[in-house]
Amino acid sequence: MINKLIVIGIDGMDFDVVKKYEDLLPTLSKMLKENNYPRLRSVFPADTTPAWSTIYTGVDPTVHGIINFVNVKDRDNSYKPFEFDDSVFKGKTFFDELNNRGYSTTVILPMNIKQGWEINGTMITRPYKGEMHVIPKSKESLYKPDFSILGTECKFTSESQLNSLKEDFFKKSDEEFRLTKCAIENENCDFLFSYFSTTDGICHDFWRHCDENHPEYPGENEHMFAIRDLYIKMDRHLKEIMELCPDTPLLVISDHGHGARPVYVARVNEMLHRFSYLEPKAGSDKKKKKFSVKGFIKKFALSFVARFGLPKWAVSIARKVPVWKGIFASGNDFDWDKTVAYLSDLSALKNYSYGGIRVIADDDKKDALCDEIIEKLKTVMIDEHTPAFQWIKRTNTHYHGEYLNRYPEIIFQLDEMYGADWNLGDELFEKKGFMHKLSPGAHRYETAVIAAKGIELDKSQYEMTDIRDIILSVFE
Ligand SMILES: [Zn+2]
Repeated sequence: MINKLIVIGIDGMDFDVVKKYEDLLPTLSKMLKENNYPRLRSVFPADTTPAWSTIYTGVDPTVHGIINFVNVKDRDNSYKPFEFDDSVFKGKTFFDELNNRGYSTTVILPMNIKQGWEINGTMITRPYKGEMHVIPKSKESLYKPDFSILGTECKFTSESQLNSLKEDFFKKSDEEFRLTKCAIENENCDFLFSYFSTTDGICHDFWRHCDENHPEYPGENEHMFAIRDLYIKMDRHLKEIMELCPDTPLLVISDHGHGARPVYVARVNEMLHRFSYLEPKAGSDKKKKKFSVKGFIKKFALSFVARFGLPKWAVSIARKVPVWKGIFASGNDFDWDKTVAYLSDLSALKNYSYGGIRVIADDDKKDALCDEIIEKLKTVMIDEHTPAFQWIKRTNTHYHGEYLNRYPEIIFQLDEMYGADWNLGDELFEKKGFMHKLSPGAHRYETAVIAAKGIELDKSQYEMTDIRDIILSVFE
């Protein structure tokens, strides 16, 4: 029995998807409706790792620092994937805080946590380097987490494998629920946090097949309900959790929303070039059609993916930033003596509609230059009625922590149909890009989910940094 509060974290659950299928999701809908459909905004950028770090700690990414971007101007290619161990969280999460206040906690499969640590209660860690940990070890035989299900990568490999991929997502969700249920039935503690992973992955891989408004929706197809059905499954999990603990307050949160990865590009560097903030290297005539290794690999990748899908190794390489960086976002294209602003990796690699711009200037002139660039970019229109940028602002007006320098100086949200593109070109906007073929779903910033039963959510708009306080307030 969980006595005081249950928090269910659902990765990538999107507010608009829940609304779309509202009638089929009675449990979740009721929890939303009773709180007047509160909104929850993710962190910027809306990535899983910084978002859960913020949920755990209550502070934004410029304060906890679990964030990293590639700086393409950094010519010695010194980028290393940002690595962290449990020490960045140990003692700092909401469940540690509850332990400090004397409450017992059960934590199931928490995102971002690797080896786990001893808490007042039970923790089951996620698969990491071939291992999962049940802490205390004496409870291993009670839970017996199934590594063969939880440890599968659930990565898109090829169109022909979509059926078995879908099956893996559903199986994983069931196993995550089995562990949650086992905790509810066997633990006697104050608090439970359980993390469900698969709504994120299924959206990444199946978005195009499930969204009838997507430009590349194939028409009626056997996967068209993959996302809907997993949401229904999550709704049933929630219903069952409620039935097991009818008097215990329940909070449901996601870390970001999910939508289509843009299939159109917005050439932000080209915009900066036209406003004279960026200069291509002399001799690299952008209009000249010459053999280019980059173009070749891009084209090759495209036709290869279309025909065969991708072998697993290629997908895992494709998802690792540094490789893309080398191929697609080479800083060698620009004359750095004449360039003061350029697109940050943040968006160029993933073709997301949100991103950032790096600005080079002396510290005392930087803000003014940023503001000037922002004013110019605000005038860029996709068509008569649609500005390219939904919003664009100086990062230091948004976040204020000590790791602010890890961010590009300007951050923005494009129209959601458009992903920021690194390349210069004759057109500012074009249907292009191919990341959406590898992974047709993409995270959204404004549309995370917050819903509750037995907790009053009286604000209409919540930030990720509010979640920890909401949790702790139940114990006051
Ligand atoms: Zn996520």
